[in-house]
Amino acid sequence: MLKLKDINTFYGNIHALKGVTLEINQGEIICLIGANGAGKSTTLMTISGIVPARQGSVTFLGEDITRVGANKIVEKGMVQVPEGRRIFPYLTVAENLDMGAFLRKDKDGIKRDIEYVYTLFPVLANRRNQAGGTLSGGEQQMLAISRALMARPKLLLLDEPSLGLAPIIIRQIFDIIKRINQEQKTTIFLVEQNANLALKASHRGYVMENGVITLFDTGANLLVNEDVKKAYLGI
Ligand code: ATP
Repeated sequence: MLKLKDINTFYGNIHALKGVTLEINQGEIICLIGANGAGKSTTLMTISGIVPARQGSVTFLGEDITRVGANKIVEKGMVQVPEGRRIFPYLTVAENLDMGAFLRKDKDGIKRDIEYVYTLFPVLANRRNQAGGTLSGGEQQMLAISRALMARPKLLLLDEPSLGLAPIIIRQIFDIIKRINQEQKTTIFLVEQNANLALKASHRGYVMENGVITLFDTGANLLVNEDVKKAYLGI
């Protein structure tokens, strides 16, 4: 579904991604783990067209999207949930969800999907008329994921969904990520510092250090890899 080939991305003189190659197959949950500043967010932003690559190629559903703008990439079925949620704080929960569906015209489908995200996250249904900015951090993350789902993505990109949340909420969110993958057949690319939960939820994972992919394997194998255990699992 998605292929990155020898991607090099820069911020001015800073060489953030150095020859990144990775692949995501339809139906998979794939995670990218790594320390602070490794280049995980930059990888997502390069894929979604926000920080374009200087060299290399990004192919999505067989089409070269390396130089395609971020707005066009959303239309092609790839939606990113950014780090820090970035919901619309002055709009209600229901209005935030409407914004997620702004490219769609199928009113019945939109209605069904709103009901679906409310079954995933019942707390959002209870707060549908409340301003997004008044929600807790966990509820805002739920809203950010739900808003992205309203665009009916084929590929959902999640940037650090666990950031700043209590362990019980993080587990809930990871359970829902797995449910979305199974029920909606949505392919998911997950960037996480919480390596333990990310690897447990993922079919396969990539490890990034200083802008380079250093390791890739199934989630299960990476969980028992000695280097991963030492560097990312605190074991
Ligand atoms: P974190 O988990 O802290 O978000 P990350 O793995 O996502 O880290 P990136 O945010 O992708 O890492 O950063 C990769 C490198 O690029 C770092 O050296 C960072 O300092 C640099 N960088 C990121 N954003 C910018 C920017 N807007 N301008 C300049 N350098 C940047």
